[in-house]
Amino acid sequence: MTSALSGSCLCGACSFTATPQGDAGVCHCGMCRKWSGGMFIAIGCNGTVQFTDTSVITRFKSSEWGERVFCSRCGSNLAWLAADGSASAVSIHCFDHPGQFNVTSQIFIDRKPENYALANATAVMTEAEVFAKFAPSTAAKPAPSTESNA
Ligand SMILES: [Zn+2]
Ligand SMILES: [Zn+2]
Repeated sequence: MTSALSGSCLCGACSFTATPQGDAGVCHCGMCRKWSGGMFIAIGCNGTVQFTDTSVITRFKSSEWGERVFCSRCGSNLAWLAADGSASAVSIHCFDHPGQFNVTSQIFIDRKPENYALANATAVMTEAEVFAKFAPSTAAKPAPSTESNA
């Protein structure tokens, strides 16, 4: 997918455009579950996320690597953005047609509570595997340090 798509929060105060890259994935880490109120299903949009009105969004710096963006009015969780602006993970549910994205991966699978599971056949990665792949230089740190977990 290479074209910009539009999305918004529940109340409509926050709208944005972003250009999804590849397939969507689920993050089961504790931070994403607390923040999203469920599984965080997101798609990477690199640095393409453009909010039409930044005055209605709140940015919560959840780690030194990134921040979580939500609507100040209705609380909808919109996206995780890398601190340096290079990466992003946008909630597929904020896009107008979330069903258009294939959900092909699950990360932090070992952090998923045991009381539910996806029926989709997907690739899975444990916390250790995620750290090894995306943050080899900081793998020894106990704190989350990857795109989808930071
Ligand atoms: Zn809103
Ligand atoms: Zn996560």
